[in-house]
Amino acid sequence: MTTLQELKPTTKQLVRDITERLGIEMTTQYDWCFSNPDGPYLVNIWHDGMFEENDEIYFVDRASDWAEKNIDTATPVQLNRAAAVSALIHTAYYRKAPLHVAILDGIRRTVGIRETSEAHQRELDSVLWYPHHKDENRRIVVVRGKPQPQNIDPYAEEEEHQRQVKVPTARPPKKIEVSATAIYERDSEVVKAVKRRAADGHCELCGQEGFKTANGRYYLEAHHVIPLNCGGRDDIRNVVAICANDHRRAHFGEERHDLRDGLIWNVLASYYPEDEEFLEELDEKSRQLRHSDAAQRKLEDNRVES
Ligand SMILES: [Zn+2]
Ligand SMILES: [Zn+2]
Repeated sequence: MTTLQELKPTTKQLVRDITERLGIEMTTQYDWCFSNPDGPYLVNIWHDGMFEENDEIYFVDRASDWAEKNIDTATPVQLNRAAAVSALIHTAYYRKAPLHVAILDGIRRTVGIRETSEAHQRELDSVLWYPHHKDENRRIVVVRGKPQPQNIDPYAEEEEHQRQVKVPTARPPKKIEVSATAIYERDSEVVKAVKRRAADGHCELCGQEGFKTANGRYYLEAHHVIPLNCGGRDDIRNVVAICANDHRRAHFGEERHDLRDGLIWNVLASYYPEDEEFLEELDEKSRQLRHSDAAQRKLEDNRVES
């Protein structure tokens, strides 16, 4: 029986070596998780974030809590990385797939107001971990060496939960009848729908209210996460309502590719968690966009979009 103490890493394996050993294509070594589209899945998890109880070693998916707690101080890239870990654990949970876990140890500290971390040790655990069940707060509990019971149907379980709480989507419904959001664009059905979704006037990326317009509404802009001229669809699941500044960043910012992945897996995935195929199509196009100069020029051409 391995104890949690024994899992504390003593050497520093390189991310590059671990992903190579698992056959995972690595994009940037600074990510917090890695996977090929159909697995395998690899996550970096801090040793001090793991627990031991009744002969079980486990951790809980708290990446989205982390993002929430640090929303004001973390960089957008950090927030996207945290969201990516959560999304990956959810994907594995629904697919009943195992996770490879690289265990980290090192220093986590706050510099100024921002949390930074430095992994001094990193070791790939030779035992597989499994997104096993959801706890009472509906966070996924990932257990070392213990597969998810075959009789758990994550989709049915989620549906049952939605029925019980009578919430039609992953987020509580917004009971605002009159939209406070002004989006100055061709009012297509899709733009109308995104206006309803962001009816409280908060940017779906940074969470801040858009500036107030002369008629008392909040100004946001509709943005196609995969632009129409890059093969994106005019579909509500491809559109976000974001503030003017973030909209420029989405097209011109140096972090635009990470930002786009964050919009897919942090924002759209939380509204449309069931539409896995659609999200993966977005993800695939996002990857192509990242690697195509021609597509990136189109992204920049596309400043005012419809
Ligand atoms: Zn914003
Ligand atoms: Zn745009």
